[in-house]
Amino acid sequence: MTRKREAKEDDLPAEKWLVAFRNPSSSKSPEGSTFVREFYAAGYYEAYDAVLTHAERMNLEVLWFREKRNCGPYMNRNYPGLEARCTYCNKRFGHEPVPCADGKCESEFCSRQCMDDHAMLKHRVRT
Ligand SMILES: [Zn+2]
Ligand SMILES: [Zn+2]
Repeated sequence: MTRKREAKEDDLPAEKWLVAFRNPSSSKSPEGSTFVREFYAAGYYEAYDAVLTHAERMNLEVLWFREKRNCGPYMNRNYPGLEARCTYCNKRFGHEPVPCADGKCESEFCSRQCMDDHAMLKHRVRT
């Protein structure tokens, strides 16, 4: 799945894309968990490359991907980037994030430890 792209597409404007992944080996649910990410790509092939590369590296299944402006109900929400950044330690990571134990908080973390520390600090909750 390697496709070398010519560096000629620079004049294409970068659009925001959305991609939905499924993690078949999620510890959270037996049938796998799904999540949405957003990223910038100039055109379909660049998006395709980014999505496939990420999926392969992280062992994820790609459910769909398309330009965000064509995503109806998804259009007005913000999603973490392909490489998410941990809210707590600021580290970049590509695996499935650990969500905050506080349902109304949209923070995501690289590890359970970071989530625990964040919950103590921000929500005064011991998880
Ligand atoms: Zn972290
Ligand atoms: Zn939180």
